[in-house]
Amino acid sequence: MIYLDHNATTPPAPGVVQAMLATMTDGWANASSQHPLGQQAKRALAAARASVARALGCKPSEAIFTSGATEANHLAVLGLHAAAREAGRPRIVFSAVEHAGHLALARVLAAQGVPVDFIGVRADGMLDLDEAARLIGADVGLVSLMAANNETGVLMPVADVRALAHAVGARMHVDATQFIGKAPFDFAALGVEAVSLSAHKLRGPKGIGALLLRQGVALRPQMQGSQERHRRGGTENLPAIVGFAAALDALGDVEAKAARVAHLRDALEAGLQRALPGVRVFGAGAPRVGCTSYLRFGQLPAEVVLQRLEQLGVCASSGAACSSGGSEPSHVLAAMGVPRDDALAAVRLSLGEATTARDIEYLLATLPPLLAPLLENDAAHAA
Ligand code: PMP
Repeated sequence: MIYLDHNATTPPAPGVVQAMLATMTDGWANASSQHPLGQQAKRALAAARASVARALGCKPSEAIFTSGATEANHLAVLGLHAAAREAGRPRIVFSAVEHAGHLALARVLAAQGVPVDFIGVRADGMLDLDEAARLIGADVGLVSLMAANNETGVLMPVADVRALAHAVGARMHVDATQFIGKAPFDFAALGVEAVSLSAHKLRGPKGIGALLLRQGVALRPQMQGSQERHRRGGTENLPAIVGFAAALDALGDVEAKAARVAHLRDALEAGLQRALPGVRVFGAGAPRVGCTSYLRFGQLPAEVVLQRLEQLGVCASSGAACSSGGSEPSHVLAAMGVPRDDALAAVRLSLGEATTARDIEYLLATLPPLLAPLLENDAAHAA
């Protein structure tokens, strides 16, 4: 099998499973218990937190462990909005291409009467900064923007939007789930109030992530309880936290790894475009993370291409794993103004650390012969 769906999830890094197993076997006590086993778990938790903080450039006390990015996003938006609303800043500004779960939260808030705006994107998937400047006004308490889009890989102008948010006194939250591990990241240097991430996107376990929250920023907890300094109640998932820390420790030279993957991705896109007519890459005109290729083969429906890929032993998807399988075109492509039939042809190939040059050569040798006859039919049909 060749796995080209790393934006959906990644395989565990070496050492992650062993570290988790060891914690489940020997470190299973509750970190809040006062007896020696509890104190041992508490020390393991502190060590993992310190290691996560070191890898992400935050203070240990700034990392709040959550069940993943979805929960971290909810905690950031609901928790920061509560304080902002009390300060007379009820409006929240999102981008129109946030993760589906995050947009669903925005819609729930809008239905409850919270003023919510969405910044659009240009045809290449890049955020429309003019619209951002128009929408981020004096009544805005929170701006929430992803660092890299999960479908297109387009890198969003976080620093520019942070400047707009801070100029009006609003807080800034960044969903960095598809960014961390693919490019150098440092919470302190980013200068925003809150960042979400999920361990399983960077070769850690599923069901664990974090909200990084700048020291001193008021947050209303969404789950009551004394854990995580009263910011997120619930017994800490120590095996998963230890696995998360192990995955971050294993990241190594992120820049060098990302450059290698970007080179493979570029070779893949160039090769497919040389071999087949009508191959179009979404977001190609904008800066993108190097692992992601979101493309269409003429107007061949995505399921037809995915079926051929499966035949070749390649795992890929038609877009976000959470919404693939549905017949509705991606909201990201709709926001980019992509016509419906083009959007329904979108296939996402997302590379990762395990992807090799041989994988790409194999794909370039085997996929075009399977798709070429279909594309001829497709063209004849369209003519
Ligand atoms: N945000 C982004 C940008 C994502 O890609 C994802 C995962 N697809 C999430 C949030 C949610 O992460 P999780 O499912 O781990 O909570």
